Amino acid sequence: MYEFETIAAASDGGARLETRNPADRHSVAGRYLSSDPSRMGDVVGVARAAQRDWAALSDAARLSLLARFLTSLSARAQDIARSITIEQGKPLAEARGEVTKALDESAQMLASAGRPGGAVHATTRAGVTPVTVRRPRGVIAALTPWNFPALSPLRKIVPALAFGNAIILKPSEFSPGAACIIAEVARDVLPEGLLQLVIGGAEIGRELVSVPGVDGITFTGSVATGKAIYRAAADNLAELSLELGGKNAAIIHDVPQMDRCLDQVAGAAFLCSGQRCTAISRVIVRSELAESVIEGLAARARSLVPGDGLQQGTTLGPLISDQHLSRVTGMVALGVRRGARIVTGGAVLTGGACAKGHFYAPTVLRDVTSDNPVAQEEIFGPVISVLTYETLDEAMQLLNGVEFGLTAALFSSDITVIDRFIAGSESGMIHVNHGTTPDSNMPFVGIRNSGVGACSVGPGAAAFYTTEHAVYLGRPQV
Ligand code: NAD
Repeated sequence: MYEFETIAAASDGGARLETRNPADRHSVAGRYLSSDPSRMGDVVGVARAAQRDWAALSDAARLSLLARFLTSLSARAQDIARSITIEQGKPLAEARGEVTKALDESAQMLASAGRPGGAVHATTRAGVTPVTVRRPRGVIAALTPWNFPALSPLRKIVPALAFGNAIILKPSEFSPGAACIIAEVARDVLPEGLLQLVIGGAEIGRELVSVPGVDGITFTGSVATGKAIYRAAADNLAELSLELGGKNAAIIHDVPQMDRCLDQVAGAAFLCSGQRCTAISRVIVRSELAESVIEGLAARARSLVPGDGLQQGTTLGPLISDQHLSRVTGMVALGVRRGARIVTGGAVLTGGACAKGHFYAPTVLRDVTSDNPVAQEEIFGPVISVLTYETLDEAMQLLNGVEFGLTAALFSSDITVIDRFIAGSESGMIHVNHGTTPDSNMPFVGIRNSGVGACSVGPGAAAFYTTEHAVYLGRPQV
């Protein structure tokens, strides 16, 4: 169990937040001091003061302090991974992978911030040189979900600070432990007030995104919350970057190596028990390949070992909460009522290693039509819906016929099919012949209901974390 009594900014010394281990609903995972929503103005004031001094440092000085921060974080990697498994539930190996990926991305983002942009433009008046420069945006508010307790916060903390901002982070109320360890490390290495944590649920989140003085809001979470935050941000005209849900698909068109293809699709579907925004939750397969794809996916689903993520050998963790388990169960039941058939799974797991937690069996559904809710809505659980097609036109219609546009994959060795997929896929991230894992130096981006504003990761993040200015350099007039 983790006790984080001293980390929360602007706590009132009263309210407590307690998290539970999703693999054992009776076991307390962490205890936290909640922040006081009425004191968000003070938190912003502290951030503003810290940001002025931070922005006054040279880029090199800031980046070198942040490099020390990352080194100190690496030394706590095991603690962070354990806290992820205890609060979020994913197997320890996956949690370690999350921390490694987060540190990798952080290093890439420091490198991007070391090239802040700006340019000298063509002159239009003699003696006046037009130059564009980028400056830190100011105070950034960040809100993160429960599924990546270290990756999501670091994906916001590192670029915010590297580009010269202060940041106020509200991690998810289900899994704030990793963010607390990150804040502990920051407290030892970075100037006070640059990174503040606020602890609590939706109420504190609402206050944080509405308080005047926040210059930019970066949010990762559900579409419904994203829309509420968009509305709140409008009142203060705060800049926005929203990373939202997905209903990602893999099209399987023609594959010389079916086993390799299915390993990647099943991995992308079942990692984190399907609770990933980039999880593949639809498989769109050419009819003549359907039987082998369905069988292969079902075999991979059955081979997973559910249980407590701290136990050696566990390859499938629990869902985050009982409420979420009910939602996943309800979605699959609804899908079946609308004509889907369960190939494997489709049930809550209650025995043995799963007796105390919220576990759902890895599930493959067949005979899914495009209007079935399991083909349309984000389930956020270990559930694959298989849809079939005859022509590529049909496949592309199925691919794009959802409200989301996060990530899509195609498996084919036909260059015309590949061209068509790249040009026609209405997704931010487009993968050909591999699963949906993004690289650490590439833009992480969704379109349509999957995202708004600048992407995170990669050089494009500068558009959110900095403001652009036009400077006209004239000669002194003598
Ligand atoms: P959520 O929207 O319920 O909560 C996200 C964060 O917002 C939490 O910190 C929560 O406390 C806070 N919050 C809730 N209501 C709020 C409000 N009205 N105002 C301000 N803050 C509020 O999402 P979740 O259940 O934690 O995470 C799951 C969702 O996140 C899924 O839809 C998933 O697809 C999405 N997600 C997207 C990405 C991405 O990068 N695109 C990555 C991970 C997760």
